[in-house]
Amino acid sequence: MKIKAVGTSGGKTIRNMLTTFLIDGKLAVDCGSVCTGLSLEEQLKIHDVFISHIHMDHIGELPLLVDNRALYGKSVTVYATETTIRYLREYVFNGVVWPDFEKIPAGEFPALVYKRVEYYYEVNVGDYLLTPLPVNHVKGSAGCYIQKGKIGFAYTSDTGKTDAVWEWLKKQPLLKGVVTECSFPSDMDALAGISHHLSSSMLGGELKKLGTDADVFIYHLKPQFSGRIREEIHGLNVHILSDGDEIVF
Ligand SMILES: [Zn+2]
Ligand SMILES: [Zn+2]
Repeated sequence: MKIKAVGTSGGKTIRNMLTTFLIDGKLAVDCGSVCTGLSLEEQLKIHDVFISHIHMDHIGELPLLVDNRALYGKSVTVYATETTIRYLREYVFNGVVWPDFEKIPAGEFPALVYKRVEYYYEVNVGDYLLTPLPVNHVKGSAGCYIQKGKIGFAYTSDTGKTDAVWEWLKKQPLLKGVVTECSFPSDMDALAGISHHLSSSMLGGELKKLGTDADVFIYHLKPQFSGRIREEIHGLNVHILSDGDEIVF
């Protein structure tokens, strides 16, 4: 399994790309930079997308991906929770902000198809088994565990302090790697708490709950504080992702 960290940042600048992970070139996990980070040719290979939650930095380029593919007669299948699908329909693909691609082109084969997922229920997504997992962020948020053969990979997406996802993941013997977040430095615990994110002082405690030897990768550093966050989590046994990094298991 090859995971390209197309965008890994918790904020957007000319040098920072928003959250998108691409599995083996064909399954996109979140769409913060799925167009700015990938060529048209690469976008045309992405049939399936998992959307973890409705926040702009995770869905921002999904409408553009759907449009790009639709012009080649290709659809996108979006896997998301019921709440996230409702938000996408109401607030994004609503015929005002962006066309309702469930009705385009007219007829049997729309350019956008939603597939509802439920926490802990495994679904087949192309070559993969995907299990959505509850995390502590906005309503409808889900991390995911993606398995192919004997390789398991997990993505918590954005989350504050939580237990359920770690308890479930520590029971997965095939888990090779986990991507989780660290958005703020330690003196911003209060903001991390109310925005349901992790700070560098919270991260160690969360990883103790995981308690496996899977590799841990960190994303979603706010670019304003990335230097301090890097210093503060230096002692933890984690890899801090940069845009464009590749993880291979
Ligand atoms: Zn978020
Ligand atoms: Zn985010």
